[in-house]
Amino acid sequence: MLALFDLDNTLIDRQGGLEKWARHFVQSRSLPPTAEAVISERLRVRAYSVDLAEIGAAFELSASEGELWREYTEGMAGVARCLPGAESGLGKLRGMGWTLGVATNGAGDIQRAKLTSTGLTRFFDGVCVSEEVGVRKPTRQFFEAAAELCGTDLRLGGWMVGDNPETDIEGGRAAGLHTMWIAAGRQWPTNVRSPDVVVADVAEATATLSALAL
Ligand SMILES: [Mg+2]
Repeated sequence: MLALFDLDNTLIDRQGGLEKWARHFVQSRSLPPTAEAVISERLRVRAYSVDLAEIGAAFELSASEGELWREYTEGMAGVARCLPGAESGLGKLRGMGWTLGVATNGAGDIQRAKLTSTGLTRFFDGVCVSEEVGVRKPTRQFFEAAAELCGTDLRLGGWMVGDNPETDIEGGRAAGLHTMWIAAGRQWPTNVRSPDVVVADVAEATATLSALAL
């Protein structure tokens, strides 16, 4: 059975990493302390090289877009940490014969750098990054590409596990997958159809999948 996992704030603590990186970035350039929150918020939902270029322009930095993007990707990969229980849970599922994939929106270089630096790559049959496949969650085409990269077919079904109600859960459901939402202390929004399963974190997500008959 296929299980697709979102990456940011599902398997790795992107928010914590971003705050750490922004603090270092601001201090290393002697920017005002208030810049830390501005930069974190600017990159909270998405970060592509153009977003770094806009930050560079806003703070009148001399570095080029390419230099800022490299600094960001290397820095974020360096501070990327798995959320508790991710590695052991994925290892258990893999041992049980699950087909595992990463299904993430974002730029290929940064998402792959984080997977490499955290050691997560080894657990997955396939890694689907929106920039690389030219389609994004929540489109059905994205989930089709993800299943294909895992060596399977979306029509055979499976699970989508993630923290975003629209891109992960609504997208996964519309693609015909069972859905599992990582609540991380939040309430499910009332304007989106409920997921099949709500779990607190990735440790509970993998434990729940492990308990299912394959
Ligand atoms: Mg996420």
